[in-house]
Amino acid sequence: MNTPNRSYWENELYNLTYDLIIIGAGLTGLSSAYFYKQKYPEAKVLVIDRGFFPIGASTRNAGFACIGSVGELISDLELESAEIVKQRIKDRYEGLLLLRNTLGDSNIDYEPEGGWEVFDDESEFLKLKDSVPMLNDWMEDLIGETEVFKVGTYLGKHSYFNRVEGMLHPGKMIRTLHEKCLKSGIEFRWNTKIEELDSISNLVISEHGHKFQSKNLIIATNAFTNKLLPQINIKPGRGYVFITKEMPALEWFGTFHYNKGYVYFRNVGDTRILIGGGRNINYDAETTSEFGVNETIKEYLINFSNDFLKLPQGWEIEQEWSGIMGFTESKSYLLEQIDENCILAAGLSGMGVALGMNLGKKASDLV
Ligand SMILES: Cc1cc2nc3c(=O)[nH]c(=O)nc-3n(C[C@H](O)[C@H](O)[C@H](O)COP(=O)(O)OP(=O)(O)OC[C@H]3O[C@@H](n4cnc5c(N)ncnc54)[C@H](O)[C@@H]3O)c2cc1C
Repeated sequence: MNTPNRSYWENELYNLTYDLIIIGAGLTGLSSAYFYKQKYPEAKVLVIDRGFFPIGASTRNAGFACIGSVGELISDLELESAEIVKQRIKDRYEGLLLLRNTLGDSNIDYEPEGGWEVFDDESEFLKLKDSVPMLNDWMEDLIGETEVFKVGTYLGKHSYFNRVEGMLHPGKMIRTLHEKCLKSGIEFRWNTKIEELDSISNLVISEHGHKFQSKNLIIATNAFTNKLLPQINIKPGRGYVFITKEMPALEWFGTFHYNKGYVYFRNVGDTRILIGGGRNINYDAETTSEFGVNETIKEYLINFSNDFLKLPQGWEIEQEWSGIMGFTESKSYLLEQIDENCILAAGLSGMGVALGMNLGKKASDLV
């Protein structure tokens, strides 16, 4: 293996062959590296990411640890069979337990505040009401919890409450997992964008021509997969989020979904609120893998904050950002064998906090 502009010594030192290379250091990629190394402590494992730290969705999300709201589950049922919807609830619940048990609640600021779905349209709310007993029966069968959903109000708004949901700090989640990977001897190459891969020989080549060889490969590039594997149909979807400056009397505590989950918000500590979503307002423009702020969506969320949340006058945005999600044609992620020793684990849409670690673990089991 020859790389241009390298010395003989560098080639000896850096052109090592690995047992497993993972492309993508988000929650899925880090988890697959971690669980593989737990199983095979002697294995040489390398994680490669194009960013200075992971730059996709895992450190840019809202930190909702959720398994499904009444509105989301009922609208899924219009498109998918009950078996698929039930399996996804189970996967999300078990995925969150795995995440919390592996990383520890205090390390990721996990808070079991519960999740609210709030409505301003009474007819939308009433349409779903009869489904609550059925969904509670499902939950009892699937996760062994009774009375998961309750009908209620939050600040006078019609609501459904899911008592088993929570929230966490996405930055701490990734940092804790990264530290665990480092401690177990996993190697990292940051700022290394992979431009080409041969899924038969498992040779990967970076944009600067560096070559890495591995016996096995896991591709965990989520929204950006299509650039490496054009045959895979995962569409990017940009998500926008902002956090407010501190406010005197915050009234919203917990995680909240509005308008079928297109808008979401949560408290961050006792004084700030995070608000995100609104992709449905300008869907085509948000089908992109470019980071950036869509001013139309920002304005929509600001109006929502004033009109629906009734944030105190003079509230301000402290920080705003975007992240990129990966959407498959169905709502389910892809866990596929691309070639004999090459596995794809990607396409987690807006549910990756719950699903990412378990997907990574499943990918590592396939190696
Ligand atoms: C704004 C926003 C809010 C969200 N909120 C929530 C939420 O509250 N709850 C929830 O469950 N989910 C949420 N999600 C979704 C969740 O964050 C994702 O599903 C999950 O993080 C996906 O993890 P991943 O590791 O598969 O992908 P990513 O975190 O995107 O990781 C992919 C990695 O691959 C790297 N990469 C890509 N291409 C290459 C290449 N060619 N070479 C090298 N490296 C490459 C990228 O740099 C990136 O670090 C949200 C997403 C966004 C964007």
